[in-house]
Amino acid sequence: MRAKEKLHSLVAHDGHDERHHGAISMPIYQTSLFSFETYEQFNLARQDEQENFVYSRGNNPTVRYLEDKLAELEQGERAKCFASGMAAITAAIMSVVGQGDHVICTHQAYGPTRDFLGNYLQRFGVETTFVDGSSLDNWANAVQPNTKLLYLESPTSMMFELQDIEACTELARSIGAETILDNSWATPCYQNPLTRGVGMVVHSITKYISGHSDCVGGVVVGTKRLLEPLMNREYMLFGGLMTPQTAGLVTRGLRTLPLRMQRHEASGLKVAEYISRQAYVRKVNHPGLESHPQHALACRQMSGFGSLFSFESAEPAQRFRAFADRLQYFRIGPSWGGFESLITVGELHRDNEPAVSLVRLYIGAEDPDDLIRDLEEAWRIVAPGDPAEGEFHEQNAGFTQNG
Ligand SMILES: *Cc1c(COP(=O)(O)O)cnc(C)c1O
Repeated sequence: MRAKEKLHSLVAHDGHDERHHGAISMPIYQTSLFSFETYEQFNLARQDEQENFVYSRGNNPTVRYLEDKLAELEQGERAKCFASGMAAITAAIMSVVGQGDHVICTHQAYGPTRDFLGNYLQRFGVETTFVDGSSLDNWANAVQPNTKLLYLESPTSMMFELQDIEACTELARSIGAETILDNSWATPCYQNPLTRGVGMVVHSITKYISGHSDCVGGVVVGTKRLLEPLMNREYMLFGGLMTPQTAGLVTRGLRTLPLRMQRHEASGLKVAEYISRQAYVRKVNHPGLESHPQHALACRQMSGFGSLFSFESAEPAQRFRAFADRLQYFRIGPSWGGFESLITVGELHRDNEPAVSLVRLYIGAEDPDDLIRDLEEAWRIVAPGDPAEGEFHEQNAGFTQNG
């Protein structure tokens, strides 16, 4: 695993580049096309649109700069940035599957990814088997003669279940299948799946990598062998490109990624530990806690943790929605990875068990003690059995309905 200091230098430092007059920050090349002095130069450039600058749907200096940084961070040979995480994920999947192929995917992958694999791709004759990805046996048992791809997301972003990356890539190699892993939660700071045999890593840049809740983007990182066909086909044909403006914003966010992750990791663990101690909590899903059933695997394949986690409770979801309404710092909303803490409330239905509430918390850059106090006070207001205390806080809170 790479030293954490190295990471900081990698994102903060650039060599002096004469082409940009020594500009310390990468200029935004707001241009759709690039022109040439002579026809010969034009023809030469056109022979490789991914390495030369010809047209911004293929390659643009600002976007390319970000791609090279991300490739280096993930320890891959090449990266390609997309308009969204889903544009990156669908392009990566389409670059390896074709009619008649079979995919195995962890059952807890990001919802739209599951929808794409399980429903949309059926139209093109691609079948997907969803497995409980925490056990290698389940992956092995799902293998068919036409299995072409193992799709991983480790950890998953609602239940925080891991897959054993090396075991899965070994299985894939033994059957001649490719692997893709969604690494959005751990970020390139804390997990580098390419060094564990994964073929392509995908990220929702929208989350931690951009880090400021002001852009939507995605990236695919991998070997040239896998990225070149993807760039020439899916990237160029679907046209789901990242704009130079967005690449500029993402690059700015990336400068502080390791710094932000240190803070998120520490605050996330602190709040998760607080949550673990609450009587209303039945189970906390955070791979960094020793109580997580895959904590040992998490420590083996990750060098740190994201700050998005969930907890389960027998208390009704309605109470947690009221709880969310009372929170001052936690905003109610989807997504995660920015500076602001977030909460969503859902229900979990396991076979032969009563439904439980599933609350997902994203720990932002605020002071974790403020966040804990916020959770504490909001719960006292909505919790049953202690009305005097609840009333006291209700009168004194003065910050309700801020979500
Ligand atoms: C948000 C998310 C995506 C999709 O990314 P978009 O940028 O919203 O398209 C994919 N995977 C995970 C784990 C996510 O959280």
